[in-house]
Amino acid sequence: MDGKRGKLLIIGFGPGSFEHITQRAREAIEECEVILGYTTYVELVRGLLREDQIVVQTGMTEEVGRAQEAVRQAEQGKVVGVISSGDAGVYGMAGLVYEVLMEKGWTEKEGIAVEVIPGISAINSCASLLGAPIMHDACTISLSDHLTPWELIAKRLEAAGQADFVIALYNPKSGRRTRQIEEAQRILLKYRSPDTPVGLVKSAYRERQSIVITDLAHMLDHEIGMLTTVIIGNNSTRLYDGKMITPRGYQRKYTLNADKQALAPHQRLRPENEPWALHSVFAGEQEQQAEKSYTRALAEEALGKLYGTAPESIPLETAGFVQESIFEFAVSPGVANKKITAQQMLVLAEIVGEKGTMEYTPHHQIRVSVPTVKPEEITAKLRAAGLLVQPVGDVVTLKACDFCDGEKRDAIPYAEQIDELFGGMQVPKELKIGFNGCGMACYGAVTEDIGLVFRKGKFDLFLGAKTTGRNAHVGQPVAEGIEPEEVVGLIERILRKYKEEGHPNERFHKFFKRVKEIEGFKHEDAPVRVLVEAVCGD
Ligand code: SF4
Repeated sequence: MDGKRGKLLIIGFGPGSFEHITQRAREAIEECEVILGYTTYVELVRGLLREDQIVVQTGMTEEVGRAQEAVRQAEQGKVVGVISSGDAGVYGMAGLVYEVLMEKGWTEKEGIAVEVIPGISAINSCASLLGAPIMHDACTISLSDHLTPWELIAKRLEAAGQADFVIALYNPKSGRRTRQIEEAQRILLKYRSPDTPVGLVKSAYRERQSIVITDLAHMLDHEIGMLTTVIIGNNSTRLYDGKMITPRGYQRKYTLNADKQALAPHQRLRPENEPWALHSVFAGEQEQQAEKSYTRALAEEALGKLYGTAPESIPLETAGFVQESIFEFAVSPGVANKKITAQQMLVLAEIVGEKGTMEYTPHHQIRVSVPTVKPEEITAKLRAAGLLVQPVGDVVTLKACDFCDGEKRDAIPYAEQIDELFGGMQVPKELKIGFNGCGMACYGAVTEDIGLVFRKGKFDLFLGAKTTGRNAHVGQPVAEGIEPEEVVGLIERILRKYKEEGHPNERFHKFFKRVKEIEGFKHEDAPVRVLVEAVCGD
């Protein structure tokens, strides 16, 4: 030893591609006189090594020897690097090196210098390839029972499954260890639906990268090996366009398709807007002594499982602490059809159940609010029952007449087309398109934001009605005799302009007045009313 203080750099170099190695990890590799690593890892960083560096490659099960040798070399005054793929502190070499140092009575003050350099762990690199599955509480569980008793791994799987963590399974399978992943699937199926999204990522960001998105029931139908990381979604994880997405919040306090959120940030934090939070749960307990809180039930079940005292596990829904979102939507029998059948009411009643609410609105729709973990199942059931399901909020809604119980049907296809194309479109403020099938306009198309009246095979168009308040007025008649084949394009252009140029919360009639002209239609102020003294009455 030449008196120089040795240095040990424990380097996580990420998934293996050079673009995903941190600057500090590159510098650390450059700085080393000696590099120690598992053969495969050394090959992955070979392009960053210099010829004058001493490289010590060892086999997979020789981690202890590698850590001991690294410490020994550093104690001789050398700068020594121990490399791990992913993060050196996550199933990497950092812990083992510190264990060797502890055995020797090392202290930071007097011993060799030690630096742990973080890298991108598999849970992060694999998640990035799958979409965004790790958006909520998550955990990693290694299924390797070489150093950990299987009984403990199984307990961790039980607890994580029950507590609805997104789970990343490391070391899921090898040539000899094939049952562990089957057992993990069996345990998790007790708490999660068979169609829970699962991502299998092999060799993330390396040459032989492969990505499979499957579900909990079918994950074993695909190839899983030592280089695979298995990411299992929680009860909220969804598939979208081949990606796994876990929503940021379980309870929806935001509306994704809204430019302006229903609750401002400071409002979201109010206790009344967080009925699922701990403070509300305890308040609820005081008021309803008999009812267990989500949190308490969760904690009791999880602790019971850990200590093996709880009764046989039950599905999350039955346990009463499933994490639900409030799903709001509007439902109606159809664009023209206004008759709802008894069977459809039964389907709706079953969906709304005890916890949901239904409100009949002036817009020929039933507005539904229901807590659920699977909104897409609800919409699928309602659509299968022949009901029309539409979003609510600041969106476009078509209000059509019933076309004289379907007898005056000529305009129905246009109404259906407009509803299909623009119904639910996000706009600055809720907008109704009134659509009536004849000049009688008995369903009040002229009193909506945009009015379309089908008359003598063509359309009359009204813009900018003000439907409420003391100065309510009908829409301005801006055009007559619009050809049917032109009407859809015209409505689209009007809506686009409003969507793009309207101020947040600006109603359509105010927008029309402000911009003065839409599609060549000039705004005219509504007639000013003359106030007269009433001759009788107050
Ligand atoms: S607006 Fe005309 S077509 Fe529609 S229901 Fe009334 S009368 Fe019938």
